[in-house]
Amino acid sequence: MLPLMEEFYTIQGEGYHKGKAAYFVRIGGCDVGCHWCDVKESWNPDIHPPTSIDAIVDQAKKYAKTIVVTGGEPLTWDMGPLTAALKEVGLDTHIETSGAYPLSGQWDWICLSPKKIKLPVAPIYKKAHELKVIIYNQDDFRFAEEQAAQVGPDCILYLQPEWSKRDKMMPKIVDYVMANPKWVVSLQTHKYLNIP
Ligand code: SF4
Repeated sequence: MLPLMEEFYTIQGEGYHKGKAAYFVRIGGCDVGCHWCDVKESWNPDIHPPTSIDAIVDQAKKYAKTIVVTGGEPLTWDMGPLTAALKEVGLDTHIETSGAYPLSGQWDWICLSPKKIKLPVAPIYKKAHELKVIIYNQDDFRFAEEQAAQVGPDCILYLQPEWSKRDKMMPKIVDYVMANPKWVVSLQTHKYLNIP
């Protein structure tokens, strides 16, 4: 059983897989506490119905080949049983995580989005396929470099403006990426498209 906040079929808006159809499974529970979090209603797992893994997989397999598990912080829970069940029916498993808790589960794609107030548990850095650093203020560029120094050589590096600060921070991100082209701009394109 996992506290399921919501599940929906949409287009992945961010990172390497942006533009691809994907089924999102949002698991409740997160105590990282980002002040700018746009899904604060995910924090308390007790308000989301305990849902069987079978029920989640039965829904997911109707819609898409790619399943994105997000939160909240999905690694609050053991992701082993859910990902095993998704893999068993041939689905691709993606996770969006802050990495604040030990990595569990079998993943085809790991998007690591570290948060300053609760840093990732070390082993996940080398396993991440993409590093997505949210830029809320100037100091986040320093934090981004500090985090990038810990990932593997093939990890794709993204800078993404925090949505409420996008007008202020986007020009700074553009300048930064042009000066430091190992970084790539990521936008929350689903918000521009007005889809979930
Ligand atoms: S880690 Fe994600 S879900 Fe948790 S508080 Fe931060 S932005 Fe929100």
